[in-house]
Amino acid sequence: MRIAKDMADAIGRTPLIRLRKASEETGCEILGKAEFMNPGQSVKDRAALFIIRDAVEKGLLEPGGTIVEGTAGNTGIGLALVGASMGFKTVIVIPETQSQEKKDMLRLAGAELVEVPAAPYKNPNNYVRYSGRLAEELAKTEPHGAIWANQFDNVANRQAHIETTGPEIWEQTGGKVDGFICAAGSGGTVAGVAAALQPKGVKVGLADPEGAGLLKLMTGEENPGDSITEGIGQGRITANLDGYTPDFACRVPDAEALPIVFDLLQHEGLVMGGSTGVNVAGAMHMAREMGPGHTIVTILCDYGNRYQSKLFNREFLEAKGLPTPPWLDKAPASIP
Ligand code: PMP
Repeated sequence: MRIAKDMADAIGRTPLIRLRKASEETGCEILGKAEFMNPGQSVKDRAALFIIRDAVEKGLLEPGGTIVEGTAGNTGIGLALVGASMGFKTVIVIPETQSQEKKDMLRLAGAELVEVPAAPYKNPNNYVRYSGRLAEELAKTEPHGAIWANQFDNVANRQAHIETTGPEIWEQTGGKVDGFICAAGSGGTVAGVAAALQPKGVKVGLADPEGAGLLKLMTGEENPGDSITEGIGQGRITANLDGYTPDFACRVPDAEALPIVFDLLQHEGLVMGGSTGVNVAGAMHMAREMGPGHTIVTILCDYGNRYQSKLFNREFLEAKGLPTPPWLDKAPASIP
């Protein structure tokens, strides 16, 4: 155990947790990298730190400066918290469809929030493109300047996983790791871990939620449908994904991912968001493809509290025609 110099120094070095049910069902060792244990409670703290550090090192971000970003939430939370610890302001553009809990957390973390209607990337008012324009405007008016974090095409994001996540997995498993798989938002995690571990012989796969475009782009396989998962489901080859070739790829419907999220909560004490369900489902697909006896690592992306009003809400799930576990609306214990 060591003393972290500051909050940023407490990012990373997360545990690898053996996932009991997924391991027993597949005969493989399925291990989850506990990224929800980062200070901002998600995998995106690593990218936020590397993006900010890179901008400071390049002289683009000066003390008191503003960081602008378009985000589904977690990158914004990471940027706001790392920013607070280093004296930067944050302005976050978020699609209004994202969970209320993430918006509340962003405000709590000190970010100024701009909510925009959800729109595809080709629409100029898409949250990512909107945030790029806003950064340009604020760079002219903010006294200490402004930068656009641009997590999708800023490869400082991927670099975080090349330098930290990948090597940590290698070290923690003593090199006894056969596969890694996760879904892509910006693609920084999957492509960064791939750059670190594919040269060592580890197969690195992609799990796509239903309706996401990467599967088709990378393998030609159609992926119709839709997903309630947040933060994943990319439709283009971002700069972070450029150069990554999956060794394995699969599509994961919500109806498969959600029961995994519920099981992790009820039987393994892990309170996870929806993307983690897609990742663990992907790891199980990869395990079945590779056969028993292999070790496969995936990402436990963020904490489930962030989606309590959606993933753990019977009305919301039923309206979407998704599975609801019987314990979901068990009355809370009351004191007579
Ligand atoms: N899961 C969640 C909950 C996320 O917020 C994100 C990032 N938006 C991811 C997974 C995907 O991470 P990456 O951007 O590194 O592909």
